[in-house]
Formats: sequence, structure tokens, C-alpha cells
Amino acid sequence: MFRKLLSLEEARQVIWERFKPKPLGIEEITLLESCGRILAQDVTAQIDIPPFDRSTVDGYAVRARDTFGAEENRPITLKVSGTVQIGELPRITVRKKEAAEIVTGAPLPKGADAIIMIEQTEKNADTVQIYGAVPKNENIMKAGVDMKKGETVLKPAELLGSREVGVLAALGTTRVKVYTVPKVAVLSTGPELIEPGRRLSPGKIYDINAYSISIAVQESGGKPIYLGVFPDHLTDLAKGLKHAIGCADIVVTSGGVSVGPKDIMPKALNSIGKPGVIISGIAIKPGKPTTVAMVHEKLVFSLPGHPTSALLVFHLLVGPIIQRMAGRPHEEDSVVRAVAATRIFSAKGRKTFVMVRLKREKSKRTMAEPVSGGDSGAIMTLAGANGFVEIPQNTQFVDAGEQVQVHLLGKTNK
Ligand code: AMP
Ligand code: MG
Repeated sequence: MFRKLLSLEEARQVIWERFKPKPLGIEEITLLESCGRILAQDVTAQIDIPPFDRSTVDGYAVRARDTFGAEENRPITLKVSGTVQIGELPRITVRKKEAAEIVTGAPLPKGADAIIMIEQTEKNADTVQIYGAVPKNENIMKAGVDMKKGETVLKPAELLGSREVGVLAALGTTRVKVYTVPKVAVLSTGPELIEPGRRLSPGKIYDINAYSISIAVQESGGKPIYLGVFPDHLTDLAKGLKHAIGCADIVVTSGGVSVGPKDIMPKALNSIGKPGVIISGIAIKPGKPTTVAMVHEKLVFSLPGHPTSALLVFHLLVGPIIQRMAGRPHEEDSVVRAVAATRIFSAKGRKTFVMVRLKREKSKRTMAEPVSGGDSGAIMTLAGANGFVEIPQNTQFVDAGEQVQVHLLGKTNK
């Protein structure tokens, strides 16, 4: 069967132009629910943080000029006029030649303009010896230096984590507007698949893609809804796809898109609604049989069954769409330069992606070594790789010793 394959760039264009992915909506949640969510609002400080000038050390609030001349062997004596309590406004005023006891975080009392650390003092009854001079503003955190009232401190599209939530809490915020998480239906196909946890009967293999794709969905900011394994049976599959479209914002399937007699996914997709299949094959290796459909305004990505192919195509095409729907900014791959450790061949007429592992040579060169086998049917090909090298459609091979760009795959400790 002759298939007109789109280039990867053409496929991207078709998908983005027809689907026009955008954030799905905005909801309000509490701070404790916000880990990993994407901010959908500006956050503007409504108060100064800190709200008052405060001490950054335990010690004595003083007038700086009263300490001038004090040295380790020539202390100056000040009268202790009282204690500043933390958590309330000071009722005392520090006058000439006076000092007030103060702790870290307590408000600066009137009259004082510096704090001397307790380590540089010695208290005797109602006086304190000062063993060093402090300049004005020493050990004081001024009101508004952390956040100034009116300042925009967080912007939409920021990923909320411990640090951002700390900022929100500092402002007294309890709820925050975030983008709705897109729901992504995930389904596997093939009678050979068994769910992990069950006994493996002869001829069967465990379903990898349901799990690896579900995690990839989460890494992109979506919520996976795993719908199970479907046999290569047209009516069952069509029913499963209809259900998937009904319960999710986007659907990702794997398997059943090659040219074998059991590869009925395109037929099933065309049977459930219009326009049906919009992309039927892409000139990439691995991932050639990738099929994309639109049904009732929803996108269905049907990835090849091979676990490595499925995840690579997810990374190239599906992840960016989910990220956009989740309100995340587009994440470019991190790329490092390396030197091809061996000659790496491409597939004729297709943009080729080769999984590589990075190795640092003694000479400090970083070598990119194709992961053994390089078979897209092997999950270890992906798990053992640090990233991939992309060989353009019209290049036959990259020679050993040539410089290559390695697109890094996620965080790695390999
Ligand atoms: P297919 O694209 O359905 O022809 O499948 C290609 C290869 O990938 C076959 O060897 C399948 O057994 C395998 N495969 C398909 N789906 C999965 C899956 N969910 N987990 C693991 N391997 C799979
Ligand atoms: Mg199959």
C-alpha cells in the first residue's frame, strides 16, 4: 500500500492548524492543592513584605551614632530601656545612649536605626556594654525589601512548587487561580497485552505503553485516564475510542497502526466520527505509522506499539499539545553538543532519531554512543539513553568523530 508520508514539520503544522490547542479553562484551588499546577493569574503584592522594618539578629536596637568609637577593648555603655516583643508593635522608644533588647524578626522600635548583635555585647543589670560600632541600618530588614506593595511577584504560566507557594503564603493568600488540567485518555491495543500485576501466560507480554504514556502525560501537565487494553476488534475498539473521546480532552492510543491485517486503528477512527484520520504516516524513524485523527473536535493520537517509538512520537508531537492545553509555556529540548562515537546511519527518506548515551572521554570530549541494539521494540533502548540525535531526512549517515546535537530526554542521573 502506498502511503504519502508527511514530514515531521508538516505533521506538526497540520495538527496545530486544525486543532489550535489552547488552555482549557481556569479554576481556583487552595495553596495545599497547588503543587505542580500552572498559575493562571498575575500575583500582585497587596502589602509590603516584610510589613515593617525588622531585626535580622538577636541583640539590641540602638541609635547607630551612640555606638561610634566602640571597640573590643574600649566598650561603650548604654542603658537598657526595655525589651521589644516579637509579634507586636514596640511600645518603647530608644533614646540617646539607650538600647532595647530585641530578637530576630521583631519590629524596630522608634528612635533606633541599627541593631547590634548579642555576640558583640555584654549585659550587666540594666546596662549593656557595646564592643563594636554599627552603621545605620545594620542588621535591619526594611519594610518592602522582599516584596513591595503593588509589585507583580508571579506571572501566569509559572509552575507552582514550594518556592512559589511560599511567596503566595507570605502575602496571606489562601486560594490561587490555575489552569484546568487536561484529561488524556490512554488506551493500549493488542490481544498479546497483559496488565502488570497479572500472571504472564504464554505468548503474552506486559502492557508497557499504558504506563509509560500515562507518566509522559503527567510529565507534560495532563491527567491520564487509563482505559485498558483493547483487542484488535473493530467494534470493540470503536466503542472504546468513543468512550475515550467522551471522557477526555485528548486521546492517546498505541498499537494497531502498522500495515498488518490486525492493524485496524485507522478504520476504527474513521468509523466513529468526522473528519477521522487527518495524518496517516510520518517520514520519521522510528514512528512511521503514527496516525492522527480528529473526531468531534478532539484529537486522537494513535502511536505505534513499539514502546520506544510510542514514547519518541509522544515527545515530538503529543507532549507539546498537552503542555499548551495545560497552560504551560513551550519547553524546548535541552540540547548538548557531543561527538558521534560511531558511524550512525539514517533510514532512507526519513528523519531518523537515534537514542544515544553520553560518555565523557578523558580528553574531556563528550561522546554520543548509540544505545545498543537501537531497536524501537526494546524499552531499555529508551531507559538506557540520555537523549537522541536527529539525522535529517536527506543525510545518509553521521560519521564517527562528527559533531552532533543531543536532545536530552528529561532529567537523568545516568
Ligand atoms: P503494533 O504497533 O500493534 O503492531 O505493535 C508493535 C509491537 O509493539 C508489537 O511487538 C507489540 O507486541 C508491541 N506492543 C504494542 N503495544 C504494546 C504495549 N502497550 N506494551 C508493550 N508492547 C507493545
Ligand atoms: Mg498490535
